[in-house]
Amino acid sequence: MAQSNQLQPKQISVLGVPFDKQSSYLRGPALAPARIRESLVCDSANMWTENHYNLAAAGWQDAGDVTFSDDDKAFKSIETSVANLLANNQRVISLGGDHSITYPILRAYAKAYPEMTILHLDAHPDLYDHLDGNRQSHACSFARIMEEKLAVRLVQVGIRTITGHQREQAQRFDVEVHEMSAGPLPDLKLNGPVYLSLDMDCLDPAFAPGVSHFEPGGMSTREVLNIIQRLKGNLIGADLVEYNPQRDPNGMTGMVAAKLLKEILGRMIANEPLKI
Ligand code: MN
Ligand code: MN
Repeated sequence: MAQSNQLQPKQISVLGVPFDKQSSYLRGPALAPARIRESLVCDSANMWTENHYNLAAAGWQDAGDVTFSDDDKAFKSIETSVANLLANNQRVISLGGDHSITYPILRAYAKAYPEMTILHLDAHPDLYDHLDGNRQSHACSFARIMEEKLAVRLVQVGIRTITGHQREQAQRFDVEVHEMSAGPLPDLKLNGPVYLSLDMDCLDPAFAPGVSHFEPGGMSTREVLNIIQRLKGNLIGADLVEYNPQRDPNGMTGMVAAKLLKEILGRMIANEPLKI
């Protein structure tokens, strides 16, 4: 009998999501996908990942940007674009955009991966039921995701702004919150299909000032790279959100975003964590 059930690693697509209309404070992340692509191919650096893949050679494709025709249907456009890529056997790395985009992305993902764990790196838990009456705000995405049971586990890392309301929401949805104040990260015991949602403000603004919400006391670039490279489980997709080029006049945060993208690609291509 033919060995038909042998798992083939899926192809990887990078998808731009230039959408920032659910930002609560500043616009700008819609400009990020283009700037991250520019930084990725900038002549100041090469295209090798730290786990020794040359991204200039192969291993991924650029799927272009989601096109938006109607503001009211923006989430639907995002969900459909991601669903089409998943139907074509792709693992998708989405470049935001504000963090509201993760909800429609995960609506598409949950249909393909019903037992998903989310690893969410962020200064903010994004668990508000609503922000000033808006339930689609970038501050509410993980409340919507957990209400719809799009994931079986939500693990949050980097948190340093949790409010009383969001603490109640975290309890209600059984979210595993690792606050920065708690000290070194324990083993997160990730397994099965894992989706990574990376808000650039998980980093300390000393490392990545090009974000809308400066929140001191965050992770170093190296700490975030270590989390990506050593992430256990089957990394099925990721998003990199909340980079704001309007707060990044010298382009340094763009290079940090491109570096994180490179290492997410490297971890996905290898299909296993870095051996240390
Ligand atoms: Mn966020
Ligand atoms: Mn944030």
